[in-house]
Amino acid sequence: MEWSPIVDPAVARHHRELVTQWVDANIAGVDGLDAVHLAMLLLYADLDGDHDVAALVSRGVGEALSEPGRFGAFVGPFAAAWALAVLQTSAWSGIEADDLLVELDDAAQACVRGARAMSYGLRAGAAAPGGYLLERAEGSRDARWAPALLDRLEVCAVPRPEGIALYTDPHWLSPLVGIEHPRGRYDLGMADGAAGAVALLCGLVERGIERSRASELLEGVCSWLVAQVERHGGVPAWVSLDDRPGPIGLGWCSGAVGVAMSMHRAGRALARPEWCDWAIDQAERWTLGSALGAREPEASAAGCLCHGSAGVVYGLARLHGASGRRSLRAAAQAWIDARLVPHFVGEPRGARAGATLLGRLGGALVLSSMGSERPPSWSRLLLC
Ligand SMILES: [Zn+2]
Repeated sequence: MEWSPIVDPAVARHHRELVTQWVDANIAGVDGLDAVHLAMLLLYADLDGDHDVAALVSRGVGEALSEPGRFGAFVGPFAAAWALAVLQTSAWSGIEADDLLVELDDAAQACVRGARAMSYGLRAGAAAPGGYLLERAEGSRDARWAPALLDRLEVCAVPRPEGIALYTDPHWLSPLVGIEHPRGRYDLGMADGAAGAVALLCGLVERGIERSRASELLEGVCSWLVAQVERHGGVPAWVSLDDRPGPIGLGWCSGAVGVAMSMHRAGRALARPEWCDWAIDQAERWTLGSALGAREPEASAAGCLCHGSAGVVYGLARLHGASGRRSLRAAAQAWIDARLVPHFVGEPRGARAGATLLGRLGGALVLSSMGSERPPSWSRLLLC
């Protein structure tokens, strides 16, 4: 997607000061894979100065590789590989990791081929090694893993009157949530649901990898997603097997902004401009004015990337870049002022201060991108 800055240079300088203060107060406590994402922030925002970026990267990668049983887009070895691959291909980084990445390519392919019980999601399923392999793939020649990835997605595909739903097995849910959904459910969001699979399928279609098979599934899942949003008057996190909707949300992980980004990308990938327009309209409808309004869901009071204001701001900025719709830029600015900046003012420490997805590190990445002419390449980890 195209990119253009959301805030003016003077505001961007103020945000830079806030992010710098946050980094100085928190850098010592950032661990695991968050350390690699922090390195991305320092390099992307030109804040590396006195900080030892190489040490952060190697510490973070080492910790993530030591958890081979955990995997997702933000945890475990493939998440580390993905972040390294993004760093390595970013003009601003200078990080070299060829040998390690070649090794991890093989491991990710084996994971995609082998894990039959794996969910299809981005946060903890096949979309994570899939997203990493896509990051590495130049085209169909390198993508022998793609049929296995599509096998995995197709196993979850359930034909419905409105298109194709993706089935979430109760064992992939946390134990308490699984008890509430003993027969499973259909998830819609970017993190664990259909929107994440849509973004992944777009990556295949755009690169010409298994194009006809991926397009067919993509078309079906998008049709189903649009129908759910129309029927339920917003983006529910999930829909039960008997069509009851879960809570309506706004955020990246399971709400309107994540679905809108994904659907916009699908509209481009399949040459369906009406889906792009639909996505822009959805983002506008659900975020305009809500930064200060009572309709805003409670979760977005959090500043995080996952379901909080940082994810909403990021999505609005992306969709503004793609559409040029000025109302989205205005909405992003309102969200930044009312719901994101306050998390960086005053006490700069706090629970989960460093966590990329659930803490303030994701917010720092978003805030540092809003005045930038340079597209936020760190966010390739979000698939949109
Ligand atoms: Zn979330």
